[in-house]
Order: sequence, then C-alpha cells, then structure tokens
Amino acid sequence: MTPPSTGPRLRESLQGIPSYKPGRPAPVATGRTMYKLSSNENPFPPLPELEEAVRASVHVMNRYPDLACGRLVGSLSERLDVPVNHFAPGTGSVALLYHLLQAVCEPGDEVVYAWRSFEAYPIAAQAAGANRIQVPLTADARHDLDAMAAAITDRTRAVIVCTPNNPTGPTVSHRELAEFVDRVPSDVLIVIDEAYLQFIRDPQAADGLALYREHPNVCVLRTFSKAYCLANFRVGFAIAHDPVAEALRACTPPFAVSTLAEEAALAALACENRLLEQVEVLVKERFRVVDGLRAAGLRIPATEANFFWVPAGAETDDFAQACEDAGVVVRAFPGDGCRVSIGEPAANDIVLEVGTRWAASHPG
Ligand SMILES: *Cc1c(COP(=O)(O)O)cnc(C)c1O
Repeated sequence: MTPPSTGPRLRESLQGIPSYKPGRPAPVATGRTMYKLSSNENPFPPLPELEEAVRASVHVMNRYPDLACGRLVGSLSERLDVPVNHFAPGTGSVALLYHLLQAVCEPGDEVVYAWRSFEAYPIAAQAAGANRIQVPLTADARHDLDAMAAAITDRTRAVIVCTPNNPTGPTVSHRELAEFVDRVPSDVLIVIDEAYLQFIRDPQAADGLALYREHPNVCVLRTFSKAYCLANFRVGFAIAHDPVAEALRACTPPFAVSTLAEEAALAALACENRLLEQVEVLVKERFRVVDGLRAAGLRIPATEANFFWVPAGAETDDFAQACEDAGVVVRAFPGDGCRVSIGEPAANDIVLEVGTRWAASHPG
C-alpha cells in the first residue's frame, strides 16, 4: 500500500495557527535617523554594569547553566516574599505562557482572553491544542471582565488577563480583578500577565501578586524584557502555587535560562534603582506625548504601559505610513489601530508632530 505523499502529519489543531509578527525594524534610510517604536523595547542602552556582568560570565559558555536558575530565583524569592518552589523561570514570559497552556489544556479545551490583546495569546492557545475564546474589549479598550467571566464554560482551562493590556494600554483595577477572580471556578487557571508592571502609575491598578497569595489558581507572569532592558536575553518568570508551578517547571525544556541571562538579570536587580529611574523618564515621556496628542484632538485610551494606542480604524495603515515618512516605525494592526512605543525624546517629538498634524486633518 502506498501512503499518500503528503509528508509527516501535523496535529489537526494546528490548522490555521497564526505566526507571530514582530514589530518591523527601522528601515535603514539614507541620511536620516529612523526610530523603532514598534516592539515596546526599552530605548535606553544597557547600563555598563549589565554588560560587565555578562562579559564576566562569558567564559562558562561551554557548560550548561544551573537548571534551577537558583541564584536569580533566590534573589526574587527574597524580594517578593514568595517561596522558591512557587517560581518557574523561563526564556521570557511568552515561553512560560506556552508551557502553562500546555500544562493545563487537553485538545478541545478553551482558553479565554480579551481581544484585541497580546498577539502571542492566540498562538500559544492553539499550539496547546486549545480553542481560542476571544472576548471583545470595551469601547474604551479595556478588558470586559463581566463578559470574560460569562465566557467560561466546562471546557475552560485558563483565562488570561493582560494588565496593562498590550496593545491598547489600560490596566484592570484591583477591585474589578479581585471580583473577577472570585467568580472564576477554582479549577480554572487565571494567568495575570504583568509585563509592563513597572510602568504603572495608577494606584487603583491590579496587584497580581496579592491575588496570587490568596488564590491557588492565580499565576503571575513577569519579565526582564521591558523595564529591565533585557529583551534579547530572554528571561522571565512565573509565580504560582503548586501543583501549577511544579507542572510548569516540568513542561519547560531544561536549561532554559542561560548563565549569561541569569547574570544579566541579577545585575539588573542589583541596579534596579537606576533602571527604575529610566522607567520614570519613559513614564514622563508617555504623559507628555499622550497629553499632547489628546490636546490636539486624538482619541487615545488610558495607558499605563510604555506604549499607547491610536484607534485609527480603517486609516491605520495611513497613520503608520505617516509616522514612517516622518522617521518612526510603529506597530500597525490593519483595520484596527496603531500601537506606538514610547522611545527616545527625539522619536517621541516626531510622534507628537505627526499625530498633531493627523488630528488636524482628521477631525472627530
Ligand atoms: C513584551 C510582553 C511580554 C514579555 O515577553 P518576554 O517573552 O518576556 O520577552 C509578555 N506579555 C506581554 C503582554 C508583552 O507585551
């Protein structure tokens, strides 16, 4: 019998899985600086201490790293007052999300999250064999937690809450998230993605760690990629009770975090104050740009992150093109809106100029 020559069979559930689209790099234009505001990266160059820490450990590259990432986990455990066995370190919080969903989902189970939100969510859900249940954001670009609670069924294994929400910017408030957690069945995992935690200035914003302490079904995801300037080193961690943390570590490929990445993260914690001063500069820039654009007439949803959202709808590509013509690359979600990262002041100036012109030519 001749087998059909279709090649190896892939999992049925992978049909139509979207691929991750990274923010476009700044094109190398002649005679002009182009700024990349398309990936929510930290525009500050690495502090010398971070580079030094990496250089000092480069000689171990022929050896495997510490499987447990013990020094970093120990340091985080003390800082956050969380037992070491509640940590799962990984190559960025995105990887941990994939492993988490793999740990909780059987084929045909459901993962509930807001939409539009982080574009890794639908990919991670589908990669785990789960069905994606996307709950539309409210008109002001916030999570609709009532609708998300109502979307939970017997098949739901995980709910993801992104606060602040990438790419629209708002946080969920602590009160509303606490009420939501109380409504979610205790056998459904609640993932709170706090990638932009350090940029939050709203005192009412949700505190994921406090909810983790009270609820065995809450898992918090954090990363060194944004505030700590280490996007390229791929270090993130999850905090969860057992058996979630244990299952997550089991589903994470061994030796995920390299010694270089661990040393860089430890160095970042050691000079956290200076990194947080840089974050403060970015937050001030966020207020300057967003206030300026609102005064010019643009409708910008609340944002507590290092980016903001321009709901340009059908004109999204035009807005992105106008930005690029002026020297900044932003992240366009065609038909919906543009996410613009806060970058260096010169880049933010350009965004203010373009946005102000845009508002004048697109009244209402
Ligand atoms: C950037 C980002 C992350 C962090 O990803 P890493 O894998 O840690 O670099 C996680 N969640 C959201 C919503 C993000 O925007």
